Amino acid sequence: MKFELMSLPFKNTALEPYISSETIAYHHGKHHAIYVNKLNTLIEGNEFEDKELKYIIKNSRGAIFNNSAQVFNHDFYWNGLSENATACSVELSSRLIAAFGSLEDFKKFFLAKAMALFGSGWVWLVLKKDGQLFISEYLNADNPLRHNEIPLLTCDVWEHAYYIDYRNGRADYLEGWWKLINWRFVSDNFANAQQDSISGYAQPCNDNNEVCDYVDVMQEYERTQS
Ligand code: MN
Repeated sequence: MKFELMSLPFKNTALEPYISSETIAYHHGKHHAIYVNKLNTLIEGNEFEDKELKYIIKNSRGAIFNNSAQVFNHDFYWNGLSENATACSVELSSRLIAAFGSLEDFKKFFLAKAMALFGSGWVWLVLKKDGQLFISEYLNADNPLRHNEIPLLTCDVWEHAYYIDYRNGRADYLEGWWKLINWRFVSDNFANAQQDSISGYAQPCNDNNEVCDYVDVMQEYERTQS
């Protein structure tokens, strides 16, 4: 199958001033497009030629994995953005509060992980197979599909996502990105994940180790803010 570059669900100017049309022209029109084109070239004539994107991500390695995952990651990133104000479902917001303390704390934890990620990568809100909401960060093209997690939201922290608009100011990019989150998309992913989830899905997990991990991340975040 030939993969195609997705059409953006908004105009190139729609996310300004937080993400400029110039950034979108490069990020979607060059970077994302190149991943799609490379993937199509790489799978020509081999066992991945007729496979679905998720199958390729889970079963390939090297360049085929990198390019297939980057196609998925960028599709997910764009679909998670909107120029319109969107609301988080009651179900998801109550689960976020249960898992992270409050929506404001969830934001702090998420952006702290995004700040702390060294180099290029992605930060995700995921639903783990045990039903726990979790913030995962992965380097380069790696993504939740390889780790048995269901993705709900992602932020691209490769420099190409923000360098035109913010230069090295990742924290400012993250604050801008936060304002653009399409909570309808995230909430729909959460609802679908609950339906698809294997048995055992239910209560949020109160694992003490996780709590400790978040405290450390918070300190890191506050350090970067001061
Ligand atoms: Mn990117």
